[in-house]
Amino acid sequence: MSEVSKTDAPMPERHAGDKNPRAVRCSICTCKILNANLGVYTDITKDLPETSLKAKEVSTIEAVTGFWEVSDMFDFENVGFSHSVKEDNSEDLVKYLTCADCEYGPIGWCLHAHSQEGAIKKSFYLCATEKRIKYE
Ligand SMILES: [Zn+2]
Repeated sequence: MSEVSKTDAPMPERHAGDKNPRAVRCSICTCKILNANLGVYTDITKDLPETSLKAKEVSTIEAVTGFWEVSDMFDFENVGFSHSVKEDNSEDLVKYLTCADCEYGPIGWCLHAHSQEGAIKKSFYLCATEKRIKYE
C-alpha cells in the first residue's frame, strides 16, 4: 500500500466567493501553484481533456466543476500554459493551465475574452478538485 492514499470522499462544500483555504500544489511533483487566499471559488463547469504529463492530440474530455478564479497570472507561484484552443462559436481563446515543472495538466484553463470595446479580459481558473491538484 502506498502512504499517499487517494480518497473518493466528497470535498467539503464550497460556496461561490470562498477563497482557497490552503495552497494548491501539483498532484504529481508537488510544485506550488497558488498560495492560499488568492483564488475565488466559482461553481462553473468546463469540459477539459483528461490529465496527462504531455499534451495529447486526442484525449478524453471530462466535465470538471469548481475552480479557483484568479484575475492576475502573477498571482500564481508557478504555472504553465498550453497552446491556444479556440472556443466554439466564439472569438474567445482558451489556454489550458499546466504544472510549470512537470507539465502535468490540464489543471485549469485561462480565458481570453474579447469585449465589445475590443479589450481582452483574461481570467484564470484553477481546478478546485483534488483529482487534478492537491492542497498543502
Ligand atoms: Zn508538477
